[in-house]
Amino acid sequence: MDLRHHFQLWYEGNPADKLARSRDLHRRLDREGLIDTVLAGEIESLRIDCRNLADQMEAMALGRLCSGCAARPGGGCCSAVMADNTDSLQILINLMLGADIQQRQPADANCCFLGPGGCLFPAKPIFCLNYNCTHILRGADRATLTLLDQCSASVLSRQTLIESLLMDRVRILSF
Ligand code: SF4
Ligand code: SF4
Repeated sequence: MDLRHHFQLWYEGNPADKLARSRDLHRRLDREGLIDTVLAGEIESLRIDCRNLADQMEAMALGRLCSGCAARPGGGCCSAVMADNTDSLQILINLMLGADIQQRQPADANCCFLGPGGCLFPAKPIFCLNYNCTHILRGADRATLTLLDQCSASVLSRQTLIESLLMDRVRILSF
């Protein structure tokens, strides 16, 4: 299968398709011994990057800000349509981080990956990772926003590197 078809396979479909594909990929990579020390090491570094970002978000009280927003009429920005920003490799990375990814039941107007304590992904889709709404932008000074941007950029660059490592390994599997 060529690279274009691989991209189609990992990026197309609804969130349930992508989640099922990522679970299948995780099992197959593990079974074939393709989660090697290089990949496992980058996943551990990503875990630290994600923790640094979560700490920065907590320091800025973003959880409380978003909960307040979500409780207002119209809700927050994690709507059902946003779940389409996920892809199989990004979900796979979260499974490798040990995250328990389940779809929200019953389905409603919220993103299906929004759990009771917030987003289920330590490593979020790129769009979600980069999104800073006006409430966030207006509620923090420039230095604090720069720190948030730096933490997000570290997660994003590590995620991108891991996606390319995964792509190399996934292409060894037959589909
Ligand atoms: S990111 Fe902004 S718009 Fe989205 S829920 Fe949080 S405060 Fe509200
Ligand atoms: S941050 Fe998480 S819960 Fe919110 S839209 Fe993105 S994937 Fe869904």
